[in-house]
Amino acid sequence: MRIVSYRDEQGTPGVGVLDGDQVAPLALAAPAGVSAMRALLARTGGRLAEAEGLVGDGRLPLASLTLDPVVPDPSKIVAAPVNYRDHQEEMREAAAIDALGVFLKAPSSLIGDGGTVRLPYTDRRFDQEGELAVVVGRRARHVDADDALDVVAGYTVLVDVTMRGGEDRSTRKSFDTFTPLGPWLVTPDEAPAPADMRLRTWVSGDLRQDADVADLIWDVGRLIAYASSVMTLEAGDVVSTGTPAGIGEIAADDDVVVAIDGVGRLTVTVTAAGAVPCPTRGAGRGPTPPASVTPVRRR
Ligand code: MN
Repeated sequence: MRIVSYRDEQGTPGVGVLDGDQVAPLALAAPAGVSAMRALLARTGGRLAEAEGLVGDGRLPLASLTLDPVVPDPSKIVAAPVNYRDHQEEMREAAAIDALGVFLKAPSSLIGDGGTVRLPYTDRRFDQEGELAVVVGRRARHVDADDALDVVAGYTVLVDVTMRGGEDRSTRKSFDTFTPLGPWLVTPDEAPAPADMRLRTWVSGDLRQDADVADLIWDVGRLIAYASSVMTLEAGDVVSTGTPAGIGEIAADDDVVVAIDGVGRLTVTVTAAGAVPCPTRGAGRGPTPPASVTPVRRR
């Protein structure tokens, strides 16, 4: 089952099941201030196959909808810093996830498929990082790696847009619009096993990333288990698994496409409208890969 969070032509938010090029809206009464997706997760305990019973007769053309982030309002976005060896090498990083742990991105940085990434500064480097993300289906604390996939409501695609430099990761990766998420969630029964997924990223048509998710240093189960040992995971939380080699600079007018076979294809565009000089001084510090190994756009 593929489930989308959307706004219809009147701007009314909802959640629905994808049915070819149509969407079947789900009848849900979401409490005020809670997205329909989180209401659906609460209603089903994260077992989204039960959403089938909430499908009515109505259908909306997918093309008529604006897609929201798969979860518009997670309590947190947990992300893996260096979780592929080839990305560790391109970054010349001494440490990987087993030394670094996880970090958080601000939920306010989310945008949906078809959205626009807004680069905030004129004088800093910004990169794309294509990633597999999971949506947590129910509250989880101290889960075992062997049982961790039981808390996964579904898989989706995430772009971890990143400013290179020495500021804290939570700053460099949390600017508004820096977390495209979508286009939809695929339930585990319909998705390939993560170890069988292939991830590819194109920037303005150039293939930059082409990786097997099987190459994760910490696989999905171990990552969820670890994250749940640090913080209680809530229904709707997003856990992003990290990016493989092939990160590179993005600039105004680029489009970024990340596709995971069997999950979905996420597309966003990039603008620098309104960008200003950066007020912090991290440009010369932190993990920045040499231009010789990654594409750099000259402004
Ligand atoms: Mn990342």
